[in-house]
Amino acid sequence: MAKKVSISDDFELLIRTDPEVADAIKREVLRQDGQLEMIASENFASRAVLAALGNVMQNKYAEGYPGKRYYGGCSEVDKVEELARERAKILFSADHANVQPHSGTQANMSAYFAFLSHGDKIMGMSLSHGGHLSHGHPVNFSGMFYNVVHYTVDPETKMLNYDTIEKQVLEEKPKLFIAGASAYARVWDFPRLREICDKTGCYLMMDMAHVAGLIAAGIHPNPTPHVDVVTSTTHKTLRGPRGGFILCREEYQEQVDKFNFPGTQGGPFMHAIAAKAVCFKEAMNEDFKVYQRQIVANAKTLARCLMEKGFDVVSGGTDTHLFLVDLTNKEMSGKKAEKALERAGITVNKNTVPFDQRSPFVTSGIRVGTPALTTRGMKEPEMEKIAELMCRVLENIGDDKVIEKVSKETKALCEAFPLYPEYRQ
Ligand SMILES: *Cc1c(COP(=O)(O)O)cnc(C)c1O
Repeated sequence: MAKKVSISDDFELLIRTDPEVADAIKREVLRQDGQLEMIASENFASRAVLAALGNVMQNKYAEGYPGKRYYGGCSEVDKVEELARERAKILFSADHANVQPHSGTQANMSAYFAFLSHGDKIMGMSLSHGGHLSHGHPVNFSGMFYNVVHYTVDPETKMLNYDTIEKQVLEEKPKLFIAGASAYARVWDFPRLREICDKTGCYLMMDMAHVAGLIAAGIHPNPTPHVDVVTSTTHKTLRGPRGGFILCREEYQEQVDKFNFPGTQGGPFMHAIAAKAVCFKEAMNEDFKVYQRQIVANAKTLARCLMEKGFDVVSGGTDTHLFLVDLTNKEMSGKKAEKALERAGITVNKNTVPFDQRSPFVTSGIRVGTPALTTRGMKEPEMEKIAELMCRVLENIGDDKVIEKVSKETKALCEAFPLYPEYRQ
């Protein structure tokens, strides 16, 4: 692995101004380049996205929305925000887009404020079954402000059972149903959820943070025509800058905008919005569709290979970019597996599996995702190889010799599929 890193001309300036920070960034490039990144929520943004993120747009205060700002000098940032909004609308067939949320959680906060009052009942997927903190977990604002009920996956199939969900919705009558998750490998049935919500006059929201890229590429159904509001991140499968956005029908436009600014945020991050515009443009290209199809093909191959080696993939496979491996039959915790894999240069995260007996700090599973590997250009043959490497580590967990040998093989794989090749010197 090359040890010299050349990032940009401005980076030379940073080296002189603050060598400590510059050094950490260089090492981070080498770390990202030198291991198999399989955390399902991570990805590697393009250099165009990185260029849009690091520039003078970050200097501008632009509270308000294009054409209605509280500050002067907004002509150029207005253009950028308009581009981002228009592209998001086209990409997801939405009436309206708000591209200002600083993160996925901020997008959810604005959406809740727009549709709910303090103390209203919300229904989201249980965190231990794949839901997100911001879907009503007690330590998050969503669990503190609202009356939360959770739905889970089916104990048999480990997939959503829409008949069970219907019964629960009719019984509990939530004001808002939250679809979407951080660790659910299957397709969401939006027409069915709409039908269920319409029976009690419940609002329907889709948090597509994880699957936004798949949706943009037409691989996962688009929620927009069926739900009242869509929230998302831009940095997961969508491969853009860290950030969030909200989509809604025209009738909700005003309330959604109002509760993002001034409701829950101050000045927008115009550099991040510029980078979102670039990300949406990239997502319109044909090669982005090819990329998303490859992500899913890779996840399916990896899941199949692991199952062939005796691993228990939750729900028996995946329709998306990720899946959970339940390690109960291997008598191993997720925590232990994560640590061993990390030593071999393979990064995953421990994750609870549905009906997990262990705590979230230990867990019985790992979550495995393919977006970042696919960005490097890896395909099915590499997935077969990686399944074999993972298996060797997990079946020889205390054996340093095995770990050392696997590390060499992961390094060789990384070397063959360079990340940001221009940064290597
Ligand atoms: C990642 C994620 C979020 C939150 O994203 P942040 O940008 O980290 O706040 C929200 N919802 C779901 C389902 C997610 O997976």
